[in-house]
Amino acid sequence: MSDPASRTTPRTFGFVNWTLRPDLDDDAPPTLHSFRCLTLTENDTACAAASEPSADPAEQQSWAFDHMRRNPEHTSYAEVIERPWVMWRHQGPA
Ligand SMILES: [Zn+2]
Repeated sequence: MSDPASRTTPRTFGFVNWTLRPDLDDDAPPTLHSFRCLTLTENDTACAAASEPSADPAEQQSWAFDHMRRNPEHTSYAEVIERPWVMWRHQGPA
């Protein structure tokens, strides 16, 4: 054992492993999409206008078209995706 704590712990615990995985459970939070404008303005800073996060990617693309209609030179965007992940605890080999 390389973990110093394991040498001083008076009781023995079974190994517990954690796995980080996308949360696909029915009650998991939704995956959210948003768009952010990457267009540089005249003073070389990003416009940074962004849509509200939504579970519907098509809604976000509508936001980008609306933004470009108001700002015809703003043609560069990033999609930001928030995907729920969860730590899953399981017993490892004894
Ligand atoms: Zn913009």
